[in-house]
Amino acid sequence: MKKRIGLLYGGKSAEHEVSLITATAVTKAIDYKKYDVIPIYITLDGEWCRGPQLTKPAESVEELKFTKKESKPNYILEFILDENQNQAKFDVIFPLLHGTYGEDGTVQGLLELLNLPYVGNGVLSSACGMDKVIMKQLFSVAGLNQVPFVYFIRYEWDRNKEALLSKCENELAYPMFVKPANLGSSVGINKASNREELEKAINIAFKYDRKIIVEQGIEAREIEMAVLGNNEPKVSVPGEIKPTTEFYDYESKYKDNSTQLIIPAEISPEVEEKMKDMAIRAFKILDCAGLVRADFFVRGDEVLINEVNTMPGFTPFSMYPLLWQNSGLSYSELIDRLIELAIERHEEKQ
Ligand code: ATP
Ligand code: MG
Ligand code: MG
Ligand code: MG
Repeated sequence: MKKRIGLLYGGKSAEHEVSLITATAVTKAIDYKKYDVIPIYITLDGEWCRGPQLTKPAESVEELKFTKKESKPNYILEFILDENQNQAKFDVIFPLLHGTYGEDGTVQGLLELLNLPYVGNGVLSSACGMDKVIMKQLFSVAGLNQVPFVYFIRYEWDRNKEALLSKCENELAYPMFVKPANLGSSVGINKASNREELEKAINIAFKYDRKIIVEQGIEAREIEMAVLGNNEPKVSVPGEIKPTTEFYDYESKYKDNSTQLIIPAEISPEVEEKMKDMAIRAFKILDCAGLVRADFFVRGDEVLINEVNTMPGFTPFSMYPLLWQNSGLSYSELIDRLIELAIERHEEKQ
């Protein structure tokens, strides 16, 4: 029997557009002989719009932008309220959402309440993976090597700028990286090489979040690994990112095509082993499920973990699918596998 897949994309997040690109790519790669595909678009305002069942790939991003008028709004939410709910409407939800209200456990919580199987990480791992401060604190508990960092909230910043700038300078050295605690795609991230830039970067980061993190900048190679699985996660070959810009910022991720992805990355077997072990330990400490992309800094033989992404970029040209392609799993096979893992995890919970 065909499985009914709810493709969930868009979202109330700075990564809305990225999600649309991913969704378009998935509609192109998914096997319509195996699946009924029902698109569910979350607008930037947070409106849920269910489009008609897809029978073929979307030609463009625009095709997937449904409006409230032409759809049934709050379609999923109605399941909660409707006594005659028919949950068999979906076999699996595939959330292709990045950032807040998508990658952070909120949507996952809704899907848990609805008792619907869904692709990827659960509430806890999504929430912990989204908040860079919590994530790094858990990484410390797991004994994972990482750059030193400082964090604070807007309330503290508004009241004591000088003290917090001094705290950063006392505990870290320039250059520093200032980031909103809960975001992705490098949105709101800036490098600061002096106090003036630091203050400016902090103010920018606070536009996106009430909590920010300031990290020690590091001169290192950036190498990523893809993890796939539930109880027995598997790790892909490593892939290196070579941005031509100052760092791997939003533009270099999605706008220009200058960034080189080198797969497999040229690293020694020892470094690769270290990375694999760290990727699995990161996956386990966050209690991940389905998929995670683990991002590392590599300096000589030293490996530091930068972060994990619980819903990594997922276009066919994104690192996560490319890493699996180079490990013998095509984009369509990866979609199949993620759907299988979602069902396995759901059954394990029952
Ligand atoms: P995504 O989720 O898209 O991977 P993100 O928004 O979570 O990205 P990070 O991966 O933390 O952001 O950082 C974005 C980029 O900024 C990194 O890929 C790297 O190029 C640079 N960067 C971040 N932190 C540091 C650091 N401490 N030292 C040096 N470069 C850094
Ligand atoms: Mg990230
Ligand atoms: Mg991300
Ligand atoms: Mg990253």
